Amino acid sequence: MGVGFAAGGWVDRQAGTVVDHPLLGWREVPVREILGAHTGLPVHVDGHARALADAERLFGRAARGSRSALHLFAGNMVDAAFATHDEVHHGPRSQAGAIAHLPLAGGTEPCPCGRVGCLQAELSELTLCRRAGLADPLRVVAAAAAGRPRAVRLLREQARMTGRAVRLLTDVLNPEHVVVTEIGVIHRPDCLAALRAELDEERAATVVPTSFPDSVLAVAGGSVALDVLYRDPLGVSPELN
Ligand SMILES: [Zn+2]
Repeated sequence: MGVGFAAGGWVDRQAGTVVDHPLLGWREVPVREILGAHTGLPVHVDGHARALADAERLFGRAARGSRSALHLFAGNMVDAAFATHDEVHHGPRSQAGAIAHLPLAGGTEPCPCGRVGCLQAELSELTLCRRAGLADPLRVVAAAAAGRPRAVRLLREQARMTGRAVRLLTDVLNPEHVVVTEIGVIHRPDCLAALRAELDEERAATVVPTSFPDSVLAVAGGSVALDVLYRDPLGVSPELN
């Protein structure tokens, strides 16, 4: 059924390119063409946030059957995806969900774009790691689990800002369900509580962490391929046509 590839940043599903991934320094990289040439297989390409929104729709606990769902992805890159009636919205050139440079109230982190408090700067795992002085976000989680107060404080603060981002996006989109992929919210109930505390009670009740806490990136890639398969099961097997 081919290869599924998911990345953060701006990924054009139709063209099969990573249009812009500032952290990797990728611009207009024809991923489908490159991977196709190496593997000899059909390659399907999409953004992390959308791929995981699809995975929630296909196998997740929270947003399955939802009439409208928002997915906020805060890894190294910060992206969002919005699905209505079983369909993740892409928009022209798959640019929907590019929220990296929306301003977050109370943000203090300078962004490479020249402004302060962009979602990308505030919520990125890179910011968390830099503030914690640790190389890997899972180490920050481990430090917090070991009772180090600074790590706990940083994770809760990041979750609180994630809550503000959810508030900003849900004010615009008013989704039935909200799924959040963010390291603290995934691993710690106090972080989920800190996120929810930024929202009114009704909205807070609609927010859950990703259904795939231990395999976010693998699930993203897999769901890109499976989504194509499920939508057109015969289309991926040329011998059946
Ligand atoms: Zn910015």
